[in-house]
Amino acid sequence: MSLPELLQTIPAEFVGACLKLGLMVGSFLNVVIHRLPKMMELGWQQQCAELSQSDAQSDVDHSQSPASAEGEPAPHTPYNLIVPRSACPHCNHAISAWENIPIVSYLLLRGKCKGCGAAISPRYPIIEAISGILCAYAAWHFGFGLAAVGALLLIWALLALTAIDFDTQLLPDDITLPLLWAGLLLNLFGVFTNLPSAVLGAVIGYLALWSVYWLFKFTTGKEGMGYGDFKLLAALGAWLGWQMLPLIILLSSLVGAVIGITLIVALKHGRNIPIPFGPYLAGGGLIALFWGQTLTQGYLQLLSVP
Ligand SMILES: [Zn+2]
Repeated sequence: MSLPELLQTIPAEFVGACLKLGLMVGSFLNVVIHRLPKMMELGWQQQCAELSQSDAQSDVDHSQSPASAEGEPAPHTPYNLIVPRSACPHCNHAISAWENIPIVSYLLLRGKCKGCGAAISPRYPIIEAISGILCAYAAWHFGFGLAAVGALLLIWALLALTAIDFDTQLLPDDITLPLLWAGLLLNLFGVFTNLPSAVLGAVIGYLALWSVYWLFKFTTGKEGMGYGDFKLLAALGAWLGWQMLPLIILLSSLVGAVIGITLIVALKHGRNIPIPFGPYLAGGGLIALFWGQTLTQGYLQLLSVP
């Protein structure tokens, strides 16, 4: 029996495989969450440096040709999702393979670096665990097939976006835009919804928050959310169809309001400190992925009281 056949016939095997895969990818997501914002910042710094350099040069010599004004690129060490190898931020101790096993290593090391004993953030095993559990649930919920594969991709993207938005109040285009395209591509085969519903979902998702943003800006003069939020809702619309958008907005506003009020009251979190909206959108999106159909049917039944 081939592996796909085995996974199809024994659901427990498939759930187990997705749990392991979820744990391993969760470990990689920690790298993405840590490095992607830094990579973006380095990119911006480089662009600024190039701009100020070309400004300075054009101030000095206006006759200089554009070709020679470009100059040599500054030598810099590569920094991306693969290079350099993961190391302890305190003592630079290189993290070996056995120190990199999801959750297990954290427990074996008792949450401390082997080199210097500095505490390792519990966030690493938490992200790995959430990824593993959600992937296992998706495998059980959708069963072996394209829908499960799509669900895993969506889970990973939303998890990374949530943590990055929480840290930096940014939702990188490097994740939101490919996510949008992936949603349209999957729904070309009708995996979560049909293609017209996916395309409309992307457009309406973007415009819905874009309108709220401008309305809020005109009435209060403040910026309530960022363009990343529009792109994330557009991506969720592309994945789940326009019909799910009201539910996603409702769920994320509810969760956002509860957590926002809790933060303000319990932690005396300043009212003017921005609370990222991305994590709530991601949460609303995940709930809609698993229980959207059930919830929508539920409230439609409630509306159509006989
Ligand atoms: Zn260390």
